[in-house]
Order: sequence, then structure tokens, then C-alpha cells
Amino acid sequence: MAETESAEQPVLYLARREEHRLRNGHPWVFSNEVDTTRSPLTAFEPGDQVEVLTHGERFLATAYVNPRSLICARVIGTRPGEWLDAAALESRLVRAQRMRDRLIGQPWYRLAYAESDDLPGLIVDRYGDIAVVQIGTAGMERHQGDIVDALRRTLAPAAIVARNDVATRALEGLEQTVEVLHGDAPGTIEVRENDLVFLAAPMSGQKTGWFFDQRDNRRRVAQHAAGRRVLDLFCYSGGFGVTAAAAGATEVVCVDSSEAALDLARAAARRNGVEARMSFVQADVFDALRAMAEDGRRFDLVVADPPAFVRRRKDLAAGVEAYRRLNRLAVSVLAPEALLLSASCSSHLARERLHEVVRAAAVRGGRSVQLLEDGGQALDHPVRLGMPESAYLKAALCWLA
Ligand code: SAH
Repeated sequence: MAETESAEQPVLYLARREEHRLRNGHPWVFSNEVDTTRSPLTAFEPGDQVEVLTHGERFLATAYVNPRSLICARVIGTRPGEWLDAAALESRLVRAQRMRDRLIGQPWYRLAYAESDDLPGLIVDRYGDIAVVQIGTAGMERHQGDIVDALRRTLAPAAIVARNDVATRALEGLEQTVEVLHGDAPGTIEVRENDLVFLAAPMSGQKTGWFFDQRDNRRRVAQHAAGRRVLDLFCYSGGFGVTAAAAGATEVVCVDSSEAALDLARAAARRNGVEARMSFVQADVFDALRAMAEDGRRFDLVVADPPAFVRRRKDLAAGVEAYRRLNRLAVSVLAPEALLLSASCSSHLARERLHEVVRAAAVRGGRSVQLLEDGGQALDHPVRLGMPESAYLKAALCWLA
């Protein structure tokens, strides 16, 4: 890239005493932390790469900039001259893939998890020989061609799909698109997880088609599913429910509002030979829970894995209220001496806050509650130390007597 080869590298100056977060490993600069007199943000194009300097002119990091975004710069390197170019992208992707190959053992995983893999704004999910890419920032969008080239060299995939339809792209001034960038993408593809087969729709499913982050929590639930009546709320394509049925649950009821998701879940049930013990309800989870509670339906293991109720920090109060309502209703259909897995993927909801929501729901239902296991995201979603936002998934497995 020509700009990175010139002797005069563009510089982003931080305002006085704004360097501590970056020094402690956090990879974002917010626009109010910039010394805009010395380095006006309007002088940069979205995606320009800069050196970030302290007010006192000390080097902090290299970063790419987006003057339109509140997160106006994202760190790409910690040494002078460490730019994000085709070679760096490829070596970071290779490093990320090596880690997954070592730790997961089969090629269905999140290959690249953004800042945690030093690839801010880039997610790559691998489904066997299909790669699904999600670009969230202008700085990464500039490199879409390099990313495709790198993946073709390192993975030789049959297809590369871009699911560039995340809502947060609007904050970066980017459009929502879904495209096949290489090869031919089938409508549905297989996902192998915990010795089972699931189905995902890479072009139209939620996110990239599958929630790899719950892999370990699904296994946890399976450990306790044998001989139990299981309720899988917000089941999507059946990840928890089918895993529980295959582990010997006597009955699994799956609830989701999306018929397309339920079709995938039904197909997964058939593929794994457990459809006779499963049923599928297309409904709003809150309505379904009220109806089941009224009908006296009870379950021995309830999984509640809702979409993020807190997407932005300012929605925290309303979001917490939604988690409260959900958990209260979930407790109301829980048999005596039963298990509840209460999950949240909102990074703005602290782990302790979710515990408090579950505790209050239990008290309200006249139940005692104990936390058995405090699950998080699977290890192909590594946490970047220094960036608390990268640890977003909570899955509290509780016993309610
Ligand atoms: N538990 C799933 C992932 C859940 S994703 C897994 O393990 O893969 C969230 C799901 O909630 C989506 O499938 C979406 O269709 C569904 N959903 C969102 N709001 C809902 C509501 N109010 N009632 C029912 N389903 C809802």
C-alpha cells in the first residue's frame, strides 16, 4: 500500500493523558480521546492507517482510522512499521487457524475472531471447506480482496461467502451485503459438532449460520440431559436441543420465532435420528412460556439462550428487564430439583448481573438456586486480555431445588 511506504506516516495524536487504555492492551481509540487540533479526524479517509502517538509524541500503536465512527481507530500493531497489509493478514489468519486446528480438531470453528486474533473488524467462520467472512469496519473492508486471496491460499476452500450484513456496519458508513466471493456456495451446509451433524444456511442464517460459541455449553447440557425433559428456548437450528436429545433426553421441546430456523432444527433432529423425541414450536418465547406455565407443563432442564437484549450500553436497563422477565418465566416451567442454563451474549451485561437476574428469578418463584458452572464462550472465541468486550458470552448452569 503506497501510503504505508511513504516516509511521512500519518499520525493520530491522542489528547493529554488519554494513552492508558491503549497501554493496558485495549485496542480502541474513541473520537473524544483524539487531539483534533493536531490531527483532525476529517483529514483521514475511512480505513487509513496511522501511527498513534501520545500527547508527548511517544509511539503507542499502529491503527486504522474511521473518522465517521465513535471508535475512530483500531489498533493493528504495537511496533512502529507494523502495518496491516496482505502479508500481515495472511500470517495472522494462518496463526489463528493453527490454533483452532490444534485445539478443536475438526474443521468447523471460528477461524478468526476480530481483535482477539489481531484482526480488528474481521470474523471468519469455517464450515469444512466453506469459509464465511464477516467484515465489520471500513479499515478491514479495504482488505477484502487480500482476505479472499489469503484464505484461498491457506484453506483452498470450495467457497467463500461474505456475510457483510451486520447492523454495526452502518456505524462505519458501510452497506449491508451478502455475496459469494469465491466458488459456489450451497444453500445449506453441514456443521459437525460434539459428534453430531447440524445444518446451517450460510447465505441467509443468523450471523454466519451457526453459533460456534456455545459448543462447550451444549456439551455441558448434554452431560445432564439423559432421562430428563428438556426445553430449548431460542433454539435456532437446534444446537442445544438436538445435542440434549442425542444424549438421552426423554423429551425435547424447541421454541423459536423463526420458521426457517425450526426447519434447520427439524432437519438436524432427523439427521441424528432423534426426531421422535423432539417437538418444535414456532412462537414468541415469552408467549410460549406463559402458555406452558398455565398448562402446568414442567421441564427438568431449561436452556434459555436469547439474542442479545442489550446491544448498546444505553439499552442496558431495558435489556436487563427483558432478561429478568425471561428468567422468571423460565423458572415458572421448571420442575422441582431441576437445571436452568441461563445464557446471555450481551457484552454489556456483566457476568455478575446475569447471576443476579437468575437469583432474583428464583427467589420470585419461591425456589432456592445454586450456581453449578459458570460457562463462557468456546475457545475458538479467545478473549483478548485488556479488552473486556471480547468476553461476551455467559452461560450460568444453575440448580433450582
Ligand atoms: N440457542 C441457539 C442460538 C440462539 S440465536 C443456538 O444454540 O444455536 C437467537 C434465536 O432467537 C434466533 O433463532 C431467533 O430467531 C430467536 N428469537 C429471537 N427473539 C425471539 C422471541 N422473542 N421468541 C422466539 N424466538 C426468538
